[in-house]
Amino acid sequence: MPLAPLVEPAESLSIDEVRRYSRHLIIPDVGMAGQKRLKNAKVLVIGAGGLGSPALLYLAAAGVGTLGIVEFDEVDESNLQRQIIHKQSTIGQPKAQSAAAAVADVNPLVNVVLHEERLDNDNVYRIFEGYDLIVDGTDNFATRYLVNDAAYFLGIPYVWGSIYRFDGQASVFAAGLRNSKNEELAAAAADAPCYRCLYPEPPPPGMVPSCAEGGVLGVLCASIGSIQVNEAIKLLAGIGEPLVGKLMVYDALEMEYRKLKVRKDPNCRLCGENPEVTGLIDYDYFCGNISDEAADAAAGSTISVNQLDQWIKDRDDFVLVDVREPNEYEINKIPGSVLIPKGEFLNGNALEELGKLTDNGSKQLVLHCKSGVRSAECLLVAKGAGYSDAVHVGGGVVAWVSQIDPSQPAY
Ligand SMILES: [Zn+2]
Repeated sequence: MPLAPLVEPAESLSIDEVRRYSRHLIIPDVGMAGQKRLKNAKVLVIGAGGLGSPALLYLAAAGVGTLGIVEFDEVDESNLQRQIIHKQSTIGQPKAQSAAAAVADVNPLVNVVLHEERLDNDNVYRIFEGYDLIVDGTDNFATRYLVNDAAYFLGIPYVWGSIYRFDGQASVFAAGLRNSKNEELAAAAADAPCYRCLYPEPPPPGMVPSCAEGGVLGVLCASIGSIQVNEAIKLLAGIGEPLVGKLMVYDALEMEYRKLKVRKDPNCRLCGENPEVTGLIDYDYFCGNISDEAADAAAGSTISVNQLDQWIKDRDDFVLVDVREPNEYEINKIPGSVLIPKGEFLNGNALEELGKLTDNGSKQLVLHCKSGVRSAECLLVAKGAGYSDAVHVGGGVVAWVSQIDPSQPAY
């Protein structure tokens, strides 16, 4: 179902604008009204990389009035194979500034707003506020879920794209429009899914290589980035059939586009009937992002829940510390565990208590969390503080509940 236009038209176009956009103006579906809507539109592009490069150039050329760019990185020579907004001459410059200069060169009428910071829980609402639409060109799962959740809470639709080697995907996630004051938009978005409806859980860390690890065909960025701009223009001007509730899947080797239906998941943790995600969460933790140092600390110092079960039966010379949060500890726990949340490790406050619990290191320290990510980080701290034989429990309490004690609730 077509959506109502996201943006009200600007009052008028100048003579320069009429000349510049004449090839749009003579398309009946766009026309003066559509172009005036583009002029009034505020679009935020997240990332001036593979997808953001073509997206920014085409959005600028199309006459989108305000373009925001979220980007904190610098231009590297290895970007130029696909990130066509940057140039040989801008290597080493901040990408946001390199992109802004290129946009100005394409269309000086565009108002460019730079957000030269890494998108995170603390700045996401401030940055997103005021934009009509978001074009997501991020390349990692933690940021994707952050974008999805924040956009949903703010009621901003967004166009998502992803690329890997020869394969691309794109969709429009407009679930947030359900709460729009514009009744027409709210009604049209009643069954719109969000990213979590399509991908409820991130892939296990390391399962899906990034472009840096797995490679990407440069021109694939243009194929998917231009689909994103196509959808953005349709949404802003209220024309055509947007990719809401549909996933575009592109195979560049077979030269095949397929459109799959994506349904709103009634059990979606964000936009479903009984949402559990009611505010921003810890996305790095959710996506199992673990630092190299923590991975090193955990290598050779990880025990299974079966081992732990045996230890609990056989040994009394170790201390089991649960590094989750108190509300998680209330849901389920491994018998005999003591709660010291991760934050206490990171700020150093845990060390005194660890000394008492382990009788100054004479008892072995065993750490666990929900799935093994946070406990690996705490293990790094503990080892650094001299607990060299400390271990953590792979799979955490999730594995404990599924393999050892299914009578406890999972979460
Ligand atoms: Zn959802």
